Amino acid sequence: MAATEAAHRSEDAGIAGHSGALIEVRCPADGRVVGHVPDLGPAGVVAAAAQLRAAQPAWEELGPTGRATHMRNFLDWILDNENRLVGIMQEETGKSWGDAALEISMAVDLINYYSGHAAEFLADRKVASWGASGVTKKLRVFARPYQLVGMITPWNGPLGGPMLDGVAALMAGAAVLFKPSEFTPLTWAEASRGWLLDIGAPPVLANVTGGPETGAAVVEEVDMIMFTGSTRTGRRIAARAGERLIPCSLELGGKDPMIVLSDADIDRAAGAAAWGAMWNSGQICISVERAYIEAAVYDEFVAKVTDKVRNLRQGMDPDGSFSTDVGAMCTPAQLDIVESHVNDAVARGARVLTGGKRDQHGQFFEPTVLVDVDHSMACMREETFGPTLPIMKVADEDEAVRLANDSRYGLSASVWTRDSQRADRIARQLEAGAVNQNNVMMSTFQLPVPMSGWKESGVGSRSGGAAGMLKFCRQQSVVSERISLGSEPHWYPYAPKKNKFQARLVRLLGAHDWRRRLGRSPRG
Ligand code: NAD
Repeated sequence: MAATEAAHRSEDAGIAGHSGALIEVRCPADGRVVGHVPDLGPAGVVAAAAQLRAAQPAWEELGPTGRATHMRNFLDWILDNENRLVGIMQEETGKSWGDAALEISMAVDLINYYSGHAAEFLADRKVASWGASGVTKKLRVFARPYQLVGMITPWNGPLGGPMLDGVAALMAGAAVLFKPSEFTPLTWAEASRGWLLDIGAPPVLANVTGGPETGAAVVEEVDMIMFTGSTRTGRRIAARAGERLIPCSLELGGKDPMIVLSDADIDRAAGAAAWGAMWNSGQICISVERAYIEAAVYDEFVAKVTDKVRNLRQGMDPDGSFSTDVGAMCTPAQLDIVESHVNDAVARGARVLTGGKRDQHGQFFEPTVLVDVDHSMACMREETFGPTLPIMKVADEDEAVRLANDSRYGLSASVWTRDSQRADRIARQLEAGAVNQNNVMMSTFQLPVPMSGWKESGVGSRSGGAAGMLKFCRQQSVVSERISLGSEPHWYPYAPKKNKFQARLVRLLGAHDWRRRLGRSPRG
């Protein structure tokens, strides 16, 4: 079994301090045990952090070009091991092959983007000097990485999750302590093994497997923490980061709305809604979690999207066959949440047009379309993170915007209309970190624009061109002398003549009006 083998081999690339306890990983589609990883716990985290800190200076010294060489070797390794990686991912998540394969394309994109742009993003920044004291000065800003960055990720993207920020942090010159989810640790264990043992890249990447306790220990050890996961855990991490006075960046939950207006391309919108709500069984922070459809096109949209969702093929398809669309739910707890949201909606008057229940075998929940929903229902207010699409009819654009903003989350949104001015007008009213016009989720895959959660969806942002890499750096201002004077005018000793002259100069150059420039007293 690919995953089991990977897990055992991953221990070779492991970390001192391992107590011997193991985490068992099961396939959500059929309950099979597919691998084990060491439960490293706080002792393993401390040991890994020390190893990384020792290796980081040489990594920073390599510079962006040297680091890019290793990163591109990693890209080659990922492509050479593509099917094996997708297989491991599929076994530990229960995804369809197609859903899992998309994580490979994300990884390739991320490596090419950040390794191709690192020299430009990290270049010393020359800055014009300011004021009289700056006349003889040369100003630059260096981007210096945090030595050790912690990266804690959830279970929905075992490869894409760590890569999303990990590539940028490594290319910035930081060493990275990765803590993957305890539910899906196998893929990243294998990727880390590939980095360390197969391509022989420097030991600036460590994979500390374990549960919440291991995650909490990561927060204690690092100089900067990047967290992706639930709002509940994010809040705890932010509190601890505040106490430790280390920066944290949080990418949290979402409840993304889709607004479809009467002048939209309904066929395209229906296709996007089916994929946007069901991709990865809806276990995507930026998935379409609720739809608001203008009355004139409501019936047409509902009929088309229901037809598409009803025809989705569910199951975990054999290796490389691309013969199913929607896979399993990754964790039993998430399956329970999805079921409770559907049951709550139905109990409050919603209708199920297709799907609506869990499968008796494996952790599958049928792709589900709900109508007659409203904001009293959990499915419209809380993050479902499952294969459901609740659809609500709205009178007009204003009602759609009001309901879309009626949420504690603000990750992303989509707006569907053929009128670009209307689309922009709505985007400016939406409380969301990204707005896709006539598409879904695309903003996250466009690395030049930032992904930032508003409200309870996060703090800070990822991607966004240079910002996506510079967030893993500290700014270092370097001020040097163009001409070396014997002494600066503001240094000791103070003397009446010298300092009075200086005070006059401050007024002459700094005041906004001639009376003050010339040091005249105010008129009585
Ligand atoms: P989670 O918060 O339960 O766990 C995420 C990670 O945090 C895991 O690795 C876990 O072991 C670790 N962890 C748990 N408690 C911890 C603690 N006290 N200290 C440190 N680490 C701790 O989230 P989950 O259930 O794995 O993932 C689902 C959530 O992730 C959803 O809310 C989803 O929206 C969110 N998510 C957000 C994004 C984004 O980019 N905004 C992307 C993917 C998933």
